[in-house]
Amino acid sequence: MKITAAVLPSPDAPFEIRELEIADPRPGEVLVRIVGAGMCHTDLLARIPGAPFPMPVVLGHEGSGIVEKVGDGVTKVAPGDKVVLSYASCGRCNNCETGLPQYCELFGALNFMGSRLDGSAPVSGTDGGKMGCCWFGQSSFASHAMANERNVVKVTVDDVNLEILGPLGCGFQTGAGAVLNSLAARPGSSIVIYGAGAVGLAGVMAAKIAGCSTIVAVDLHDNRLALAKEVGATHTINAKTTADVTAAVRDFTGGGSQYALDTTGVPAVIRGAVDALRATGTCVIVGVVMGDISFSASGFLDGKSVHGVIEGDAYPADFIPKLIEWHRRGMFPIEKLVKTYRLDQINEAQHDSESGATIKPIFVFS
Ligand SMILES: [Zn+2]
Ligand SMILES: [Zn+2]
Repeated sequence: MKITAAVLPSPDAPFEIRELEIADPRPGEVLVRIVGAGMCHTDLLARIPGAPFPMPVVLGHEGSGIVEKVGDGVTKVAPGDKVVLSYASCGRCNNCETGLPQYCELFGALNFMGSRLDGSAPVSGTDGGKMGCCWFGQSSFASHAMANERNVVKVTVDDVNLEILGPLGCGFQTGAGAVLNSLAARPGSSIVIYGAGAVGLAGVMAAKIAGCSTIVAVDLHDNRLALAKEVGATHTINAKTTADVTAAVRDFTGGGSQYALDTTGVPAVIRGAVDALRATGTCVIVGVVMGDISFSASGFLDGKSVHGVIEGDAYPADFIPKLIEWHRRGMFPIEKLVKTYRLDQINEAQHDSESGATIKPIFVFS
């Protein structure tokens, strides 16, 4: 079947809209007609020169849509079902079997290598040419994507806008899950969220859901900080205009925060986040950190900890329906973070995402 997709030909080239071919689903696979696909900063890892991803490639890993066809053996969904797509996992390794698919031993091979595990690919050029796909088990910057029974989550309610739910499968799940699953933030506690982009703002919303009484958002842009306040931050710090962010955090949190969520991946920010924790405080890191971070070991003697988290420690089949329910009730107002684009505006959307003008671009196909 012919599909339309945004193709990244090489790390430094603009995206191109091309017609491609998608095969019928194999056993266990689910062909989805995409109605919305968010752009996440992880998509742009493919733009790092020398990054080990096959090119050309169809990116996109925050898709939502309608099941079009299912392969043999699929029982979880049927044609016509509404679904959100999340990351791929094998279901058979130690970590998958203990309920931690986000740390699947085959995570890299399944999500980044541009093909199925056996090297075959469901998507190709119309001339049969090789095309990187299966990005996070989907490649949803396209009219249709091939997912797997394991990484589709059925949407069972009608009164939500399916077009904007795709980022629940990655960015929003990462921020909210870091607060609710990884940190398991307690009511009445204090939390500082570094970076008020899509992941950080989902973290702010989750901190409010968790009942944190002090929620501090730190960012470089006043417009994002205003949005953070709108969705639940009790205090904001503009790190560009504040001389000592750590001192400001200590001031707002009565001496130091119980929790910190870093979404920036900037070593100096993470170091500051740990410095501003109170004794027994925990900092989680959800982004790709560029470079090493040094900490003074004595700073950890008072029970502080810092650890990395993938996909908000979320088990998508359980967590995404919870996020949808909170969204329905107005407690997880992701619509405030979203700007929609047509797929042929993808280069503009990337620019707006990188400049910070748009927090969460979503491509819609209607
Ligand atoms: Zn696994
Ligand atoms: Zn992502």
